[in-house]
Parts: sequence; C-alpha cells; structure tokens
Amino acid sequence: MNLDFTPEQIAFREEVRAFIAENYPDSLKSKLADSEELGKEDYLAWHRILAKKGWVAPGWPKEYGGPGWSTVERFIFADECAKADTMMILPFGINMVGPVIYTFGTPEQKARFLPRILSGDDWWCQGYSEPGAGSDLASLRTKAERQGDHYIVNGQKTWTTLAQHADWGFFLVRTDPDAKMQEGISFLLIDMKSPGITVRPIITLGGEHEVNEVFLDNVKVPVENRIFHENKGWTCAKFLLAHERTGIAGVARSKRGIEKLKQIAKTEQANDRPLIEDPFFRRKIAELEMDLTALEYTELRVLANEQAGKGPGPESSLLKIKGTEVQQRITELVLEAVGHYGAPYFRGFPQDGDNIYPIGPDYAHQAAPRYFNMRKTSIYGGSNEIQRNIIAKMVLGL
Ligand SMILES: Cc1cc2nc3c(=O)[nH]c(=O)nc-3n(C[C@H](O)[C@H](O)[C@H](O)COP(=O)(O)OP(=O)(O)OC[C@H]3O[C@@H](n4cnc5c(N)ncnc54)[C@H](O)[C@@H]3O)c2cc1C
Repeated sequence: MNLDFTPEQIAFREEVRAFIAENYPDSLKSKLADSEELGKEDYLAWHRILAKKGWVAPGWPKEYGGPGWSTVERFIFADECAKADTMMILPFGINMVGPVIYTFGTPEQKARFLPRILSGDDWWCQGYSEPGAGSDLASLRTKAERQGDHYIVNGQKTWTTLAQHADWGFFLVRTDPDAKMQEGISFLLIDMKSPGITVRPIITLGGEHEVNEVFLDNVKVPVENRIFHENKGWTCAKFLLAHERTGIAGVARSKRGIEKLKQIAKTEQANDRPLIEDPFFRRKIAELEMDLTALEYTELRVLANEQAGKGPGPESSLLKIKGTEVQQRITELVLEAVGHYGAPYFRGFPQDGDNIYPIGPDYAHQAAPRYFNMRKTSIYGGSNEIQRNIIAKMVLGL
C-alpha cells in the first residue's frame, strides 16, 4: 500500500482548504467556539453550503448526486473539515438512510427522497432502538399491521437522536409476529408530522436535549413508504449499520482533538511548569497519539480495500471500538488537564440573566459536558462489547 499522496491529491487538498476558508460561516465558528447551543438552522447551514457545491454526500455515487470522489479524496476532505473545526454533517440522511434508499429503493422512492436529503430540506432521524431492543435489535416489538394500502404502526422507540427536529424517520417495525425474529421486520419511512407520533425529550448527563423517546399510536403509513420487500427489512438494517460504524471512527476529528489537548496542556500549569512537561501526563498523550496513528493506518487500509472494490466488513467493528476509545480518552485528558475548572459547568451555562459567571479559561467550560457526552460513543451504533463479539466470530473464528 502506497501512502504518499499524488500531486492531484495534494492539489485537491488545497482546493478543499480554500473552499472551507472562503465559505465556512463565521457565525458558526463563533457559536461552536463559545459552545453555544445549536438550533436546527445552525445544524443545516454548512450542510446547505456543501450541498450547493455538490460536496455534501462524499460517499454517494455520482448518479445520485455524490461528487464522484475516490476514497482517498473522501479521506482528505474529512481531514480538512476536521482541521478547520467545521460542523459535522448529521449522518442520518446522508450516511444512513440515503445509501439504503439508493441501494434498495424503487425509482419513485429515489426521486422523491434523495434530492431532499442532499439539499437538507428533510431532516431525518433513526427509529431502531426500543426499550428492550438495543443490542438485541431483532427483538423489537413496534408493530405495523397492513390495512389495504397502509400500515398502522403502534409502539415505542427510544434514544432517537434529534427527533425533535426531524421531518422524516426511518423505522424498523415488525410486520410478521409469527416469523423468525429477523425475518418478520420491515423498513418504513415515516413522516414525523403524522398524527399519532409523540416525541418526548430525554435530557442527558451533560444537560443536553439530544435524544428522545418516540411514541407511535395508530400511525398511518402508506405502503409505498416501505423500502425493499415486506419482512425483509433486516437486510436494509444490517447494510445501514455497517456504514454507520465506519463513519464513527472519527480519526480526523480526533487528530484535531489531540492538537487542542496539547495546546491546553501547554497553557495549564502543574508544579509550577507547563503540564505538557509533566512526564506522566506527557506519556498519556504520547500513548493516545500512538493509538490514533495506528487507527489512522487501519482506516487507510480499509479505504484501500474499499478502493479495490471490497466493501466494509468486520473491520468496521474494529474502527468503531478503537475510534470511540480514542475519542473518550481525549475528553478524559482534557478534563484532567483543566482540573477543578471543569467541574461545575454544563452546556448552555451561563445563560442570559444568570448572575454567576464561569471562572477559569474558556476551554475549561465545556470539558465536563463533553466528557459526559462522549460516554455515548461506546454505546451507540452498536455497543463496543457487541463489536468485540463480531470480531471474535467473524475475524478470529472463535
Ligand atoms: C446518545 C445515544 C444516541 C442514540 N441514538 C440513537 C438513534 O438515533 N436511533 C436509534 O435507533 N438508537 C439510538 N441509540 C441507541 C443505541 O443504538 C443503543 O443504546 C445501543 O444499541 C445499545 O442498546 P441498549 O442501550 O438497549 O443496551 P443493552 O442492549 O441493554 O446493553 C446493555 C449492556 O450490555 C451489553 N451487552 C448486551 N448484550 C451483550 C452480549 N450479547 N454480549 C456482551 N455484552 C452485551 C452491552 O454492550 C451494554 O454494555 C442511541 C444511544 C445513545 C446512547
């Protein structure tokens, strides 16, 4: 595997860098730097700019609106976005349901949904997990009963990320209660404004409204909103999860995270000298960096395989485990570096009208909420214990 970039790839990197420098909105830069709570329009602002340029869906085939990049160009693009600290593009439309629709959908479904995912006109959420069906997803109980040209859907989903903003959701529902678990499931696209849907917030440890419970009470869904065959939704579900896991590795963002950590460690003092000179702390950063470099090479190897036409296999589990461990360790070390300054704060603090203000440096205020928030990464997208089971079975043959 040759890891040197070609002159064309280096020129591509320059083009991406220049585009971001000229087009990334200053308003978003300052909101993110001040850790302000983001609204729906903030989430969508960068999405829309990239959509206009034709760059919002790096992984999509050109015929459906992707930019036609090679996997290396996609890697470079992600790297440049991370270096510039741009907003993440929400994955639910672009990385999750979009590929399911262009792979398994009918021509009508592709024409109806794909352009609106690209433009950002539709915000999507993922209705997989239920109370009692997380790791063991196939035991889901939300049921859809066919009545003529509609399904009537009843049940409850949980942990539905940002469903409070969603126009559409992709849901796994049980259409045949008598079939074997995986065989009686269908993949439905549901308009979140349908009568009978209730979205209730779950507030996380860091004080954020990021996840929700979604209740479905006699929700009427046209049969034409089902992707692929009735009772064969598990095929779409598995396809989607493999794509979700590769995306979670987050190498480029972690590289940027370590840069920031080093900057903080240079500023913070321990025993009257910069923390970065403390041999114990230095060693922790060095170990983290080594793990991240190993992860980066693994990701490049997976990308090289993909380039050669081999899709993501069980390696995506490995990327998910190591990627999320690195992300969590970065937030742990930032919290350790800022010490007691990190303790009292939560997202959105202080708010207008508060008569107490944070003490300590700006970078410390969000250290605790970020640390708490990142505990999620080893759980969502299939918990790391389950990923280890997959590696044990599929890679090691145990
Ligand atoms: C912040 C956040 C956002 C999320 N967003 C979404 C979303 O938008 N849409 C959605 O559908 N879901 C979402 N999820 C749900 C997520 O996919 C599930 O939480 C995850 O699949 C784990 O399921 P569970 O929480 O039911 O835990 P459980 O399955 O009950 O597992 C509990 C613990 O037991 C371990 N365990 C379970 N079975 C085994 C086994 N066989 N071997 C070894 N260990 C095992 C697990 O690894 C875990 O540590 C989100 C979760 C979080 C935390």
